[in-house]
Formats: sequence, C-alpha cells, structure tokens
Amino acid sequence: MTKRVIECNVCGEPLSAANDGELLSQVQRHYASEHEEAAFDEDQAREMIEREAYDAGDA
Ligand SMILES: [Zn+2]
Repeated sequence: MTKRVIECNVCGEPLSAANDGELLSQVQRHYASEHEEAAFDEDQAREMIEREAYDAGDA
C-alpha cells in the first residue's frame, strides 16, 4: 500500500493522500487554512504535485 506525499513549499509539512486527486484537495485545503497569502489555483497545485509528489510506502 503506497500513498502520495508532497511537502508544503512554505512550512515543509508533509501532506499525504491515497492518490493525486486527493492530494490536490489536501494541498488546496492546507494552503487555504495555513498560507492564505500564498494560495494558488488548481492548475498550479496540480503542476506542483506532478513535479514534486512522490510515492511513500505505508509499511
Ligand atoms: Zn504549509
């Protein structure tokens, strides 16, 4: 069982989800609540995930 992980560009907190779609909402939720000033739109979030997200095993 793996999950998708991305670290927040602002505070470095790791955000994880079962797939990229869920990760996208995690990222958007995190930025909306923690970094309102650095929030970005869905396209930018998607791009960031494509570039930086990685698989993490849940062993
Ligand atoms: Zn953050």
